Formats: sequence, structure tokens, C-alpha cells
Amino acid sequence: MRLVRGTGKVYLVGAGPGDPGLLTIKAVNLLKAADCVIYDYLVNPEILEYAAPHAEKIYVGKKGGGHSWKQDDINRLMIAKANENRLVVRLKGGDPFIFGRGGEEALALVEAGIGWEVVPGVTAGSSVASYAGIPVTHRGVSSSVTFVTGHETSDKSFSKVQWEYLAKGVDTLVFFMGVAKLSEISQQLIQYGRDHATPVAVVRWGTYNEQEVLIGDLSNIAAQIERAQVKAPALIIVGEVVRLREKLNWFTPSIATALAA
Ligand code: SAH
Repeated sequence: MRLVRGTGKVYLVGAGPGDPGLLTIKAVNLLKAADCVIYDYLVNPEILEYAAPHAEKIYVGKKGGGHSWKQDDINRLMIAKANENRLVVRLKGGDPFIFGRGGEEALALVEAGIGWEVVPGVTAGSSVASYAGIPVTHRGVSSSVTFVTGHETSDKSFSKVQWEYLAKGVDTLVFFMGVAKLSEISQQLIQYGRDHATPVAVVRWGTYNEQEVLIGDLSNIAAQIERAQVKAPALIIVGEVVRLREKLNWFTPSIATALAA
């Protein structure tokens, strides 16, 4: 697909949590048509194989490559490529509008007058839990779920009111980017009224063959992940739904490989 001069466009595309089988058909079609793919650390590299061989592929992730891209530089890059009249796929892990800074990127495109669209992806928030055998809601067990960024939980802006709400006002809590803060998160939840025996799952590299799951409760999970040296990327699920894993643990990593082949 070649674009007419002056019609470069950026698609903010969700790549899902890792298993390439969880890509949307729209994402695959856009990847095939892209002139330029700008992708992050949390995008499974296998997904890039859907892009045409001639497509320019630019890694702007933070791990491994040494150089760490600033958000402003990523915005400038997307705008520059679109101004070269190219079909740009900005490929982001999970869903671009869930803790992916996709909203900020969209605002930068609007400001620059660049055409853009968002293609939602399968968020880690529900899919990584599912691959660990945990439905985030379940009749009679959990009728509400909240996605929280662990990143900001130490900020002053993350108030007492928020901790009270999280501890007592919602059944299932899903923390993104929370591994380094897990000790503080569990302490705060207990302090604000959540039972210390509430089960917790930590899922690292969910949906990948390397998926690891650690189960504990609010009183011991921080010590457990410290002992097991669990690092990012991992998703933390807090709530009674975690117990369902005992019966619903369906995922054997080879299934992901077989379906992606
Ligand atoms: N936009 C993404 C989230 C980006 S924030 C989405 O919708 O899923 C990055 C965080 O997401 C990671 O630190 C981790 O907490 C979580 N995450 C993303 N992919 C993951 C995976 N495969 N396994 C476990 N956690 C994952």
C-alpha cells in the first residue's frame, strides 16, 4: 500500500502480550502494509516477521539496546516518518491506550496535524491473568476489577483515598509495572483494610514459553519474589479469583508455539 504525497499516517497498534496468536487481524494487515515499524521492548520480535522485508524497523525500547529513547524523541520520529508520506506502524505491547503512553503519542500526532488511528490490542491486564488460569472476574467471587500502575504508587499524588479504595472498594486488583514496589503495595493494602491472607499471583513473561507464575498472599508475596528474584516484566493479580488457578491452570507453553507456527 503506497500513500499519495501528503498523506502519511501513523497507526498506534497494540501487539498484545507476547503470544503472536493474540494479534488482531487488523494489526497483521497493517504490519504487512507498513513502510516503517517503530516498536518497543515488550513487543515479541516474532511479530515483526509479519512486516514486509523492505519495511524499515526501528527499535525504540529501553532494554538491551543501550540507548534509551525519550518520549519526545519517539514522538518526533513518528512525525518525521509520517511527513515522509509513509505508512507508519507504531507497535506497542498489549493495548496502546492502557499504560502504554499511547494517549500521549496520539496527542503529539494531533498537535502535529498528522493523520492517525489506534488499533486496540489484547492487554496483558486480562490476557496474562487468563494464561495463568485466573479469570479477573468470576460470578460470586469478583464483580469488579481495577488496573493500577505500580509505578506511581509511591508518589505523593497516589493518595490515602486511592489506597482505601483499592483495599476495600474493588474485588480484583491488577498491577502493571509493580514488581519493584510489591512490598510497599502489599503493606499499603493490608494497612488500609485488605485481609493479609488475600491470594496474589505474580506472572512474568505471561503468554510466552518462558511464562513463570508465583503464588502467595499479601503477607508473603514480596518475600517470595525477592527469594525467587522475579524481575519485570510481570503482572500482579490480587484477589480471591487467584484461587481459581488451582482448577483452571490450562496453559502449557508449547501450545503457544504450536499455534503461532
Ligand atoms: N500497554 C500494555 C502495558 C504496558 S505497561 C498492555 O496493555 O498490556 C508494561 C507492563 O505491562 C509491564 O511492566 C508488566 O507489568 C505488564 N506486562 C506486559 N506484558 C506482559 C507479559 N507478557 N507478562 C507479564 N506482564 C506483562
